[in-house]
Amino acid sequence: MKNLALLFLLISVISCNPKPHASSEGALPPNSGVHMNGGITKPKNIILMIGDGMGITQITAGMYMNGNKLNLEKFPVIGLHKTHASSGLITDSAAAATSFASGIKTYNGAIGVNNDTIGVKTILEEAEENNLATGMVATSTIVHATPAAFIAHEKRRNMYEDIADDFLDTEIDFFVGGGKKYFDRRESDDRDLIAELKDKNYTISDYFTEELGKVFIPKNQNFGYFTADADPLPVSKGRGYLRAASKMGIKHLLKRSDEGFFLMIEGSQIDWGGHANNSEYIITEMLDFDKTIGAVHKFAEKNGETLVIVTADHETGGYSIVQGSKMDSLATKFTTGYHTADLIPVFAYGPQAEIFSGIYENTAIYDKIREAFGFKGPGRELIVEEKD
Ligand code: MG
Ligand code: ZN
Repeated sequence: MKNLALLFLLISVISCNPKPHASSEGALPPNSGVHMNGGITKPKNIILMIGDGMGITQITAGMYMNGNKLNLEKFPVIGLHKTHASSGLITDSAAAATSFASGIKTYNGAIGVNNDTIGVKTILEEAEENNLATGMVATSTIVHATPAAFIAHEKRRNMYEDIADDFLDTEIDFFVGGGKKYFDRRESDDRDLIAELKDKNYTISDYFTEELGKVFIPKNQNFGYFTADADPLPVSKGRGYLRAASKMGIKHLLKRSDEGFFLMIEGSQIDWGGHANNSEYIITEMLDFDKTIGAVHKFAEKNGETLVIVTADHETGGYSIVQGSKMDSLATKFTTGYHTADLIPVFAYGPQAEIFSGIYENTAIYDKIREAFGFKGPGRELIVEEKD
């Protein structure tokens, strides 16, 4: 009897606990489509947001230069991941993104391939196979290391034209980023991959033709948009599409499958600010990414069946905030022009967010996403195919 009373008390405490998954569960309409699995609420959609080169100091600098606040603070679950690659303690973006996308440790420069350069199926490809809609938005070229590792399988990250070609092997529903020239003015062949994508039920447009916000996307088509011929501009020089493109992506992906979606959003240039040892560059890019985080969080809060994960591949610059700093005015130092081996934070919000707390390898992000989606088996499927 005493035990029963205790149990009852415990249950009331749990049900009053304002965890985001609990509150969104409570707010769900009866036919919301949330996947229940043994009483666990599964997310229908997962949005993975990667701030390239975004270590704790990049986040801190953005926060203090933004009146001591960030949208990231709305995320209740925080973890840390270990970034090391198979070829060395200091990872690059290619190996790190391959760890997220395919669950393996691999060598620096690898795009969706293991140490033996064999392709390993990515979470985006698995999502496609599970009838989910998929998308990617980046502020680099769309064939740059981070997005590339979710969709392509190539020995080296600089094989941009081969990576572009790999887009044709998937049914990705939505992508926005730079790098148009790798698709339609190729050096290795005369193919026009934009024409080939259009033949594959894609609407493709670009910055030169029309503004992203003005594009009409038929809901029965996949969609791609090029924001630049090569690298998109830094946000301080006029780029400004990340938030809008992410919102468009969500809207389109919701129409593309009743089963749910997987969307990867990258704030690519926080890393470039780190390589340049340029604090201003880091902060403007960090805040652009955080603005996008705010919009995505807002969607997830309303939607109730979306898990949002925000992390980075590694830290860049050995960035630190030193004596002489004030709120809104920071004195900073760098210890390197390359990446560092720091543990990297993971922020999670939504159904199954709890599984992202703790300290784990970057490859665990892959397993946790699969677990949250409820994908069967261990994953990491090798791809055996003849390349043309
Ligand atoms: Mg990147
Ligand atoms: Zn980098």
